[in-house]
Amino acid sequence: MHELAITEDILTAALDAARRAGARAIRRLHLMLSSASHIEPETVRLHFTLISRGTPAEGAELVFNTRAVEQVCRHCGRVFTATSDLTCPACGAPALPEPADHEMTLEDIDVDVPAERS
Ligand SMILES: [Zn+2]
Repeated sequence: MHELAITEDILTAALDAARRAGARAIRRLHLMLSSASHIEPETVRLHFTLISRGTPAEGAELVFNTRAVEQVCRHCGRVFTATSDLTCPACGAPALPEPADHEMTLEDIDVDVPAERS
């Protein structure tokens, strides 16, 4: 599976966003998973715990939300919510695979920002 690569991308994006915000620590990452994704949240958590060590994201909580991806079957025209099976529930025709970079995206981060000094 490719969870590790995707988790690395998410961590990089979160650290970039935290740096831009002047944050010293990331408390929480809000992630959006496609309903068509094969990604296992528990696997992402394990990878994240390992690769975030020593970064401002160490110990951050991962919050997963699922985005229902609707597809129209190219074979029978049925509209359905894509799952990781990636087949039409009506006729079994293959559904369109979700682009890899849409499977899991970083929606938002909660950070600790040092108090402003004026
Ligand atoms: Zn169909």
